[in-house]
Amino acid sequence: MPATIANLGFPRIGPRRELKTAVEAYWAGKIDRAQLLETAKGLRAAAWDRQKAAGIDVIPSNDFSFYDQVLDTSVMLGAIPDLYRALGAPDSLEVYFAMARGTRTEVQEEGCAHGHGGGDVPAQEMTKWFDTNYHYMVPEVSPDQAFALSSTKPLDHFREAAALGHHTRPVILGPVTWLLLAKSHVPGFEPLTLLPRLLPVYAELLAKLRAAGADWVQIDEPALVLDSREAIRTAYRTAYAALAAADGPKLMLTSYFGSLGDNLETALALPVAGLHLDLVRAPEQLEPVLNGARKDLRLSLGVIDGRNIWKADLAATLDRLEPVLKARADIEVAPSCSLLHVPVDLAAETRLDPQVRDWLAFAQQKLEELALLGKALNQGRGSVAAELAANAASIEARRTSPLTHDPKVRSRLSAVNANWSRRVTPFAERIALQQARLRLPPLPTTTIGSFPQTAEVRKARAAHDKGALDDAAYAAFLREETARTVRWQEEIDIDVLVHGEFERNDMVQYFGEQLSGFAFTRSAWVQSYGSRCVRPPIIYGDVSRPKPMTVEWWRYAQSLTQRPMKGMLTGPVTILQWSFVRDDQPRADTCRQIALAIRDEVVDLEQAGAAVIQIDEAALREGLPLNRADWQAYLDWAVESFRIAASGVRPETQIHTHMCYSEFNDIIAAIGAMDADVISIETSRSKMELLDAFVTYKYPNEIGPGVYDIHSPRIPTVAEMRELLLKAGERLSAGQLWVNPDCGLKTRKWEDVRPALVNMVEAAKAARAALA
Ligand code: GLN
Ligand code: ZN
Repeated sequence: MPATIANLGFPRIGPRRELKTAVEAYWAGKIDRAQLLETAKGLRAAAWDRQKAAGIDVIPSNDFSFYDQVLDTSVMLGAIPDLYRALGAPDSLEVYFAMARGTRTEVQEEGCAHGHGGGDVPAQEMTKWFDTNYHYMVPEVSPDQAFALSSTKPLDHFREAAALGHHTRPVILGPVTWLLLAKSHVPGFEPLTLLPRLLPVYAELLAKLRAAGADWVQIDEPALVLDSREAIRTAYRTAYAALAAADGPKLMLTSYFGSLGDNLETALALPVAGLHLDLVRAPEQLEPVLNGARKDLRLSLGVIDGRNIWKADLAATLDRLEPVLKARADIEVAPSCSLLHVPVDLAAETRLDPQVRDWLAFAQQKLEELALLGKALNQGRGSVAAELAANAASIEARRTSPLTHDPKVRSRLSAVNANWSRRVTPFAERIALQQARLRLPPLPTTTIGSFPQTAEVRKARAAHDKGALDDAAYAAFLREETARTVRWQEEIDIDVLVHGEFERNDMVQYFGEQLSGFAFTRSAWVQSYGSRCVRPPIIYGDVSRPKPMTVEWWRYAQSLTQRPMKGMLTGPVTILQWSFVRDDQPRADTCRQIALAIRDEVVDLEQAGAAVIQIDEAALREGLPLNRADWQAYLDWAVESFRIAASGVRPETQIHTHMCYSEFNDIIAAIGAMDADVISIETSRSKMELLDAFVTYKYPNEIGPGVYDIHSPRIPTVAEMRELLLKAGERLSAGQLWVNPDCGLKTRKWEDVRPALVNMVEAAKAARAALA
C-alpha cells in the first residue's frame, strides 16, 4: 500500500487576509451577504485548488469558518442560547456574528481587549484554543439543553468542493471535545453528561455526509491529549461506539498538540477506522501506538509541524516513516495539526534575509514538503533526489549558521548562576528603601503603560513606515503626544507616571525589532480570533540587545516631570509566547537569552535614573503546558527568566510587573516567586474576589488590583472604584495596595480615559482617607 498524503486544515483567512477584509466590510455594512458569501466561496476554492496542485491526496473541507470552528460546531448542533435565537434563523449570519461579537458596531483593534462589551447582546465568552494563540467561542449549554442538526455547512462545503472536482474529507469537531470545552451557568453541572443527547445529532450528520458521497470524515478530538478522568474515557467509548453504529463515513479520529498519554489505550480500542497522531509535539508516542494498534487501523502520522514555521528535516522524517510504511499496510502522512496556525505562503516575504528565509516553511511550503515525503515514500528517495538535497542543504545551513549561534550570548548564558535571578536584598528591606526614595502617598496611583493609540497616532506611524513622514517629523509628533500625556497625568495628580507608549506598534514587535535574533515578516498573518490576525515575530537566532531600546524615550518623558516616570518593558516570557520560536534548542534557553537582553535594558534604565521599572508578563499564564505534570518545569524557567530580567538592579529600584488576567489560584506560588515589588492585575470585573488567591497565599509584596475595566467604554464612577478599593483593603493591608486600571489604555478613546482616570484618582484619595 502506498502512503497517502493528507492535510488536516488550511488557513482560511486567505493569502492577503481577504476574509478579514470581507467580514469587516460586511459588519460595517459596506458589502452585503451575497458579496461576503462569494468571497468566502472563492477563498475555499483557491485553498482546495492549491492543495490539489501541491499533490495532496486527502484534502479537507469544512475547515473554513467565518469566525471560528468551535462556534460553527455550536451552531451546527443547535446549541444557541435563547438570547441569540431571537435574532434570526439558527444558521443565519445574524445569529452567528451576534454569538461571535455581540450586537455592536465598533471593531476593536489591538491589545488584550478582546472586543467584548458595548452593544445590546453580549458576545459569547472567548478563550484560547488549547495552548495556541487562536481563540474560540466557548460553547454554552444548560442542563435541559436540546440539540438538533441546525446547519448543513459540512455537507454544503463537501458538495461545493465536489462540484469543483475535489473529493474532500470533511472535518468536524468531535462530541467529547466540544462538550469538554462547553460551559454551563448552572454551578456543578457537567456538560459531559449531555453526551447521550448529543450523539444522535452527530449520527444524523455522519449519515448525511455518507449519503452525499463522503467516504471519510476527520473527527477532531484534541481533548484526547489532555489529562483525563475515567468518566472522560468512558465518554470517548460511549461516543465512538454510537458513531461507529451510525451509517456514516469512516472516521479518522484526530488528536493533536500532544501525546495521547493516559488515553492511549482508550484511543486504540475505539471502533474507528483511522487515528491521527501529533508526532511533532509527541514523537515518543509512535512506538507504543505501533505496538498496540489493530492491523487494520489506518495511522495518520503528523510529522510536519503545523504550529511553527521551520522547514522540516525531510531525510530525518523519512528515516522515521520508512520502517512504519514497511510494517503497516496503510499509513497517511500529514501535518501535526491543521495548518491554521501558520501563515499562508512564504512567497510574499521578499524582504526577509534570504538566509533566514531559506529555513522557513509556511502553509504552502508545508504542503510541498508533505508531497515530497509522499513521493519519496512511494517512488523511492531517488525520485526526489534534487529536492531532498536542497532540503538537506537548508537544514545544514541553519544548523551551522553564525546567525543562529552567537558565542558571546552562549558564554554569557553559561555563566548565569543563581545570583543572576535573585535580588540581593529581601522584599521587606527593599520596599523600605523604595518608599524612602519615592515618597508616595498610601494607595499610590499609576496606569499600566499605554495611552490611547488614536487614529492620528496610527496614521503618523503608517506614514512613517511608508516613508511619507521622515524620522525627525515622526519623532517630533511622538514627543508632542508624550509631552501632552505626561502633563495631563500630572494635572490630574497621578503619582507614578508613564510616557504612554505611543512609539510602540505592539508590545512584542517593538522590542523584537530592536533585538538581534528576530526576524519580521511583511504579511505572515495568522488568525488569532475572528477577523483579528497577528504577525508573530520569528526568533531564529541567539538573542541579544545591541543597544538600549527604551532609554531615550524614558529620559525624554522623565525630563518633563518631577514625579517618578516608570520604565516600561515587555518581559521575556511574553516575548517568547507571542513569537514563532526556534525549534533547535529548548524554549527555556531561548527565554533565558531574552531575559538577559531585557535585564540589560532594565539596568540601563536604572542607570539613566529610573526609580520604577515595569516588566509586563501578560502571557505568563497562557504559556502553561496542557498537562499538569509539565506545569512546574515551565513555571520554574518562566519565573527564573523574569527574575533574571528583574534582578540586575539596586534594592531601591522598584520593579513592577503586570498580568492581564485574573486567575491566579493555581499559579500563585509562581507569582510569589517572581518577587516583583509591585504587581498589577485584572480584577475589576470580579469585584475583587479574585484577590482571594493573594489573600490565602499571604502575598507579601505590593499589588495593584485593577479598578477600572478597560475592556469596556463605560466610565467607572468614583463611588464604585472607592468601593472596590475598600473591598481590597479588607482583604489585603492598605499599605500593600496600588490603584490602577486593569490593563493598558491603548484600545480606549481619550474621551473615556480622561474622566475614568480623573475618577480613579479621586477614588484613591477617598479610599486613602477611609483606610487611614
Ligand atoms: N504596558 C502594556 C500596555 O499598557 C501592557 C499591555 C498588556 O498587558 N497587554 O499596553
Ligand atoms: Zn494587561
